[in-house]
Amino acid sequence: MAEKIAVINGRMIVPDNPIIPFIEGDGTGPDIWKAARRVADAAVEKSYGGGRAIEWKEILAGEKAHRMTGEWLPAATLDAIREHVVAIKGPLTTPIGGGFRSLNVTIRQELDLYACIRPVKWIKGVPCPVTRPESLDIVIYRENTEDIYAGIEWESGSAGAEKVRAFLAFEMACDIPEGAGIGIKYISRPASERLMRKALNFAVEAGRRAVTIVHKGNIMKYTEGSFATWCYDLARKEFADKIVTENEIAGTGKRPDGKILVNDRIADNMLQQLLLRSGEYDILIAPNLNGDYLSDAAAAQVGGLGMAPGANIGDFMAVFEATHGTAPKYAGQDKVNPGSLILSAVMMLEYMGWREAAGLIRDGLERTVSQKTVTYDLARGMEGAREVRTSKFADAIVANM
Ligand code: NAP
Repeated sequence: MAEKIAVINGRMIVPDNPIIPFIEGDGTGPDIWKAARRVADAAVEKSYGGGRAIEWKEILAGEKAHRMTGEWLPAATLDAIREHVVAIKGPLTTPIGGGFRSLNVTIRQELDLYACIRPVKWIKGVPCPVTRPESLDIVIYRENTEDIYAGIEWESGSAGAEKVRAFLAFEMACDIPEGAGIGIKYISRPASERLMRKALNFAVEAGRRAVTIVHKGNIMKYTEGSFATWCYDLARKEFADKIVTENEIAGTGKRPDGKILVNDRIADNMLQQLLLRSGEYDILIAPNLNGDYLSDAAAAQVGGLGMAPGANIGDFMAVFEATHGTAPKYAGQDKVNPGSLILSAVMMLEYMGWREAAGLIRDGLERTVSQKTVTYDLARGMEGAREVRTSKFADAIVANM
């Protein structure tokens, strides 16, 4: 009988037949979701015989939800994720410059999924624009609930914008041009600390070498600058015996064995460091906006968004999703790469402790790429590739498990 995943006394209990809610997503979402589900089910079946199986439960968001319920993000969807602890989703459309607020951001904020975790690692054979893609093996921890993404903004010419402008002019002696659109950027100590704690805990458990705080604190001193300060403070306070800061080893530059190096880089520099000195970085932690830019740039380095997985994780509750969006021009064509969502499902299985199934998928995917059976995006840069559709790529992965 299918059961819910539970959290009891600070531990996640995963039954053998967990109910896992899914949102299929907009645009290319249904195509990649179908492929990811098929691959995940096959891996679980092959790993555990009939001993374990996922009972998928559809929940609605985005265009499908609007068509069926008149709402873009029904309350029942958020409730279902809360209730079932772990969920997976396809990408959702967000209108630009107006319309409703991002559903993705709303889901992350409403459920307090404060860490957006995006591993970036090259899969052998994937065509990419750099000569040594294997040197990049990082995990990005992006803050998911604050920063300029918090959605506190006023449209140009609106009563709200004029009120804020007047307040700033009269009370704070800050001039903003008439008719400007205004957004608020805020970053708090508790949100910075809990993300840093999560990143360091992961670094300790996974035996990683370094945590780099990425920020633009030279310019935005009291938001991004404070983010860096608070992350360092937390590292010194809670992980004193496990870390060493770059300043502490400034003389030798040598990290003592077994210690995690904590350092920081200004965001613009970080983007070039990732390309030129990729092997020196390990875990990156960043505020919301910079973390978003970093994720896509790093993903491009190892072959593009088609293979970029991700997870939004709070305290236990987790929603797994691809890094990319809906790629609407390819919607319904059974064309795009489902690798991103398949690898997000791998992260989900690992999170549930189903490592055998996760490993099978990873092996199957690597073997399929090495056989040059790939979707259009990878075929574009691969000599002698056999270009296949989304569904056929999934078939090939299953056959290769
Ligand atoms: P996008 O959907 O990520 O697509 C940008 C480009 O990336 C595509 O045109 C395609 O490149 C490539 N790409 C994306 N997914 C791919 C896949 N599975 N396989 C192969 N290539 C892939 O970005 P966008 O066009 O800026 O955004 C579209 C919509 O998605 C927007 O409404 C945006 O708000 C939303 N979005 C949602 C999420 C989310 O749900 N978490 C995240 C980001 C964006 P080529 O054109 O070169 O083939």
